[in-house]
Amino acid sequence: MSKFLLLLFPVCAMIGCSQPSSDRKEKGKTEDGSPKVEEYIELNEEKKQWPLDFLMGKFDPEEHEDFIEIPEKYASRAGMFLKKEVFDAYLKMFEAAQKEGIDLVIRSATRNFDAQKRIWEEKWRGERPSAGKNARETYPDPVDRALNILLYSSMPGTSRHHWGTDIDLNSFDNYWFEHGEGLKLFLWLKENGPNFGFCRPYTALNEDRPTGYQEEKWHWSYYPLSSKLTKQAEEKLSDDMISGFLGHETATIIEVVKNYVLGIHPSCLQNQHSKRSHEQH
Ligand SMILES: [Zn+2]
Repeated sequence: MSKFLLLLFPVCAMIGCSQPSSDRKEKGKTEDGSPKVEEYIELNEEKKQWPLDFLMGKFDPEEHEDFIEIPEKYASRAGMFLKKEVFDAYLKMFEAAQKEGIDLVIRSATRNFDAQKRIWEEKWRGERPSAGKNARETYPDPVDRALNILLYSSMPGTSRHHWGTDIDLNSFDNYWFEHGEGLKLFLWLKENGPNFGFCRPYTALNEDRPTGYQEEKWHWSYYPLSSKLTKQAEEKLSDDMISGFLGHETATIIEVVKNYVLGIHPSCLQNQHSKRSHEQH
């Protein structure tokens, strides 16, 4: 455990490092100083508050009016859901990829609290391998066991997959994205994903992203929306709220919100407008 803590760096105020809001407001003003219509909409949208239950995945995407079932043509199986605006953006990206001979397949999309709890507890009980190990047998200490599962899986209540903004594409194996067809697809996504609003939260761990899950080359996030949800998670979520599953008591020791929810690449913290501003400079 102490070894783990030594590896952690302060997560900077990553949210605070993004585009200052005062700058955004200035850019949105017309000559007489009043905000443009689309800027009004954007500012109001930014103020939208998602209920804590939504941030923590405590809802059924099948019943939620903002969600749509992904047609099987785009996914590896039926019954997966995304927020409508995220799916719209994904469709544009999918079609652009198709034109260049790249076949994108959604392997996982929205997972609510219950779905994440199933995955977490199967790993906790050693019924499903965790990073190639039986976590229950290998790590009798609860904190060590949680840290092993946290290499690739979120604690229920803390997953970006709760929000309907994040998708896993094509393969759950980093190696696949490093050769042949997988590499071609990955390079295309890296180059073109941001133009459609998609960023990669789980890049390799380094000084840009000092804490969080291991690299996941398959995980992409629609940042115009997920950047706002991340901001609200930072403001509203605390480690002691993370409960209702086996091993939840480790959340406060590990400081899951700071080290995992906020342990993402800074490129996922900008919204569309600030991205445009960056491009202008
Ligand atoms: Zn994922």
